Amino acid sequence: MNDRYHVHMKRPWCFLACLFLISGCAAPKLPQPTQDFRGLVEQLADPSMEGRGLGTAGLDRARDFVLQQLQSDGLVPAFSDNQYLQAISFRFRSRAVTIHNIAAGLPGCGDLAEQCIIVGAHYDHLGIGTQREGIFPGADDNASGTAAMLLLARRWAQRAEHDPAASRRTLIFVGFSSEEHDLRGSRHFVTHPEALAFDLHRAAAMINLDMVGRLRERTLYVIGNQTAPWWPQAIMAAHQHTPELQLRPIPIVLAVADHEPFAGIGIPVLQLFTGLHEDYHQPSDVAWKINAAGGELVVDFADALLQELAYDPAYTGRTTTALEASTP
Ligand SMILES: [Zn+2]
Repeated sequence: MNDRYHVHMKRPWCFLACLFLISGCAAPKLPQPTQDFRGLVEQLADPSMEGRGLGTAGLDRARDFVLQQLQSDGLVPAFSDNQYLQAISFRFRSRAVTIHNIAAGLPGCGDLAEQCIIVGAHYDHLGIGTQREGIFPGADDNASGTAAMLLLARRWAQRAEHDPAASRRTLIFVGFSSEEHDLRGSRHFVTHPEALAFDLHRAAAMINLDMVGRLRERTLYVIGNQTAPWWPQAIMAAHQHTPELQLRPIPIVLAVADHEPFAGIGIPVLQLFTGLHEDYHQPSDVAWKINAAGGELVVDFADALLQELAYDPAYTGRTTTALEASTP
């Protein structure tokens, strides 16, 4: 663990703990799901979202959409003071902008409840390009990961309602903003643990869903599997539930993505990724090109991974060597 990030927790996730005491493992009654993977990607990549670019009203619309999904599925605020949103203000292209991370949780139960597992996806993208380029819809990057995160949150909210487990880790679902500009959202999240309603430094794992909408030849890359000694075992166990997938573990954190700040403070991370393609960071990254069945399969795998991690006390411990933090 990197000493630079050792921050004393003033308010260790008291809100979630209180909610647990009141409700045990039970979650509120939930509405019926109305959207599948494709439906969620189409909404997030819709022209009204303006490519979810920094400083656009479309990014705020995407924020509201993600927030509304998490709220209607019954998840509770995961920032301090009962907040779902974390505002970050800065100057971008010589004007002031404010972006928001979104975080919602499902409180755990019993001995493991104070440890959490973070499931993240960035919901921003590149916005609007030149007149010739038009909107960059970012269907794969990263409406797909956001859709997967929302579907996992919904599944676990429904499951928590009937969960008989005596002990389960707390699950935190995060929509990061401004990944496309210096990982600003995820860096801010990691460097402001006092803003969280849970103890970041007791996080057991962080799973990053970034570009999971273009499954080809059933190949799913699992990046970062050296960041905990137990990842290979957890990945193998989850794979048994989705044997259709060909898993390609990648032992180092390659891409510049939201899991990096977490790896930098010694939290075991794993990015799920269906690979690069010619539409990457192009206006042609559109919703109709998404492999929705493949996306659902990635959700199934991530779900199995969470099932593996959520209940078993063995999945603890930081990386032995924290990866070099890329935060200035
Ligand atoms: Zn991108």
